[in-house]
Amino acid sequence: MKLSRILSNRNGISRQQANALIAAGRVTVDGSRCREAARDIGRFSRVLVDNEPFQTGETARYFMLNKPAGILSATRDPAHETVLDLIAPELRAGLHIAGRLDRASTGLLILTNDGVWSRRLTEPVVKLPKVYRVTTRDLIRADTHHRFAEGIWFAYEGIRTSPSEIDPIGSREARVTIYEGRYHQVKRMFHAVGNQVTSLHRERMGAICLDDRLMAGQYRPLTAEEIASVP
Ligand code: URA
Repeated sequence: MKLSRILSNRNGISRQQANALIAAGRVTVDGSRCREAARDIGRFSRVLVDNEPFQTGETARYFMLNKPAGILSATRDPAHETVLDLIAPELRAGLHIAGRLDRASTGLLILTNDGVWSRRLTEPVVKLPKVYRVTTRDLIRADTHHRFAEGIWFAYEGIRTSPSEIDPIGSREARVTIYEGRYHQVKRMFHAVGNQVTSLHRERMGAICLDDRLMAGQYRPLTAEEIASVP
């Protein structure tokens, strides 16, 4: 919401008065004076007028969780345990998942209450790498590299996946890097080349790597550096 609107939403302050306060340099946003009435202010910003708190700003929360197999990537479900159940109750409010994992998949799962940030992390146009360690039922054929690089046709959506990379680790094990996050994307890509994923573990999203000190089911807040790494 625009700064002038935030001020004038409060009883007793007209839009003109709000603009005058801003123009007079009496308003600060997140510690800096702001003279721009049209500046977009998020719900996490702290706004002061004459050094008095006007909007205290919600606390933005960001966590990485090492998702165990068998837990739903959802924030609520009537029948099954969800990843939100693994987070302490006092930290749960407003959290959503930035890039789900299938129920059987494991590894890096990010939860936050900051929707603008999580969209930048997950939106296909931003093209941040998501890295998965994959094991497969059959031998990984030599042409898989080429097929993934040229993109796999997903008939249901009528799209071709953007080029992805595969680095072999063993004959049935590889590291796969994709730049989108389409429904069951990695499993469907292997299915399209006649193979089948038997386990899938996410190691990295953008510059955020799963902390190897986290046991399955454990989580920690992201560091300021990890949060800032999302463009
Ligand atoms: N691709 C999949 O197929 N499953 C996941 O959980 C994530 C990516």
